[in-house]
Amino acid sequence: MSMQNPVFIPGPTNIPEYIRKACDMPTIDHRSPLFGQILQPAIAGVRRVLKSENADIFIFPSTGTGGWETAVSNTLSPGDKVLAARNGMFSHRWIDLCQRHGLQVEIVETTWGEGIPAARFEEILAADKGHQIKAVLATHNETATGVRSDIGAVRHAMDAAAHPAMLFVDGVSSIGSMDFQFDNWGVDIAVTGSQKGFMLPAGLAIVGFSPKAMAAIGTAKLPRTFFDVRDMGKSYERNAYPYTPAVGLMNGLKVACDALLAEGLENVFARHYRIAEGVRAATRAWGMPLAAASVDVQSDTVSAIRTPDGFDSGKFVSHAATTYGVAFGVGLGEVAGKVFRIGHLGSLTDVMTLSGIATAEMVMADLGLPVKLGAGVAAAQEYYRTNPAKRS
Ligand SMILES: *Cc1c(COP(=O)(O)O)cnc(C)c1O
Repeated sequence: MSMQNPVFIPGPTNIPEYIRKACDMPTIDHRSPLFGQILQPAIAGVRRVLKSENADIFIFPSTGTGGWETAVSNTLSPGDKVLAARNGMFSHRWIDLCQRHGLQVEIVETTWGEGIPAARFEEILAADKGHQIKAVLATHNETATGVRSDIGAVRHAMDAAAHPAMLFVDGVSSIGSMDFQFDNWGVDIAVTGSQKGFMLPAGLAIVGFSPKAMAAIGTAKLPRTFFDVRDMGKSYERNAYPYTPAVGLMNGLKVACDALLAEGLENVFARHYRIAEGVRAATRAWGMPLAAASVDVQSDTVSAIRTPDGFDSGKFVSHAATTYGVAFGVGLGEVAGKVFRIGHLGSLTDVMTLSGIATAEMVMADLGLPVKLGAGVAAAQEYYRTNPAKRS
């Protein structure tokens, strides 16, 4: 197995050496004052990455899925109604989690490849005169289809309907890579994990709660123990945890936040856009459309690329892995077999991206797809050389 190639899956992402070293530390006593020197900067860093002044930040030993559960179980009661669009595998899984928690989900079925239909949300919220809907769930970046939704527009729809529901946003594959504005968008709960924009191994669920979400905790009746943010928050006051924290990962999180903030969030987002534009130039040269239905919803962290009818895209991914030792993302759910995905988030350069595009072309040629070797590479090279990266 070659570990020298970068991965092109949309998480877990490539781990830079300095972050790997930050995670690899000797055991410390997590009840000693040393732990506070990791915990507090990590919390402050996450808050800044979310663009929030005073969100309560909670970090659990878990993954993004645990973050969904944290959001729901701390603020809602059995039978509560929530509103969500289903436009890909991740929004589907969050809906499933809600249903298994005994919530009623008003599902807006949305074509995979499209973003959250904010106008439809506004109609539904305006019609909900009794304010039965307690929360609106929004998957900012549908990792299955490479579709970014407009969270500002969802907030606008809620305000236009004068609806008091909370806004919960899954930012697992956007936070730390694409612009995310917790305060400006009026987000009540943001959810992410460690292994995507933060460039860490999997193992942390990272959530931010607004004052309104914090206020909902007292009346919420869904059972919670491990994910109870009240226990977590009380412990943080003593620089401690209600149980054993994942200390190494949290030290890595502190370092990752420092790195993102030192680069400058706007520069981080611009870097992701540039890298993504190179990949998109390559897909145009290949004549293969993105699953994303329009330019305005194209994700800067992952591209889902449609393969020709009759071609099983799963073969692309397995051939790339076995022949070239390079990982691409498979199609999930409705688009299984129909798309492969190039993850382009986290620690990535133009040069690394070009290697992924070149590998994708070799795979397509091997499998008989009508692609001229070098066509996508040349298109991306042309984009990268005429739009050079900022060097500090
Ligand atoms: C990866 C991902 C998740 C799931 O996170 P896990 O860390 O695998 O539990 C949820 N939502 C989105 C949008 C994701 O990309």
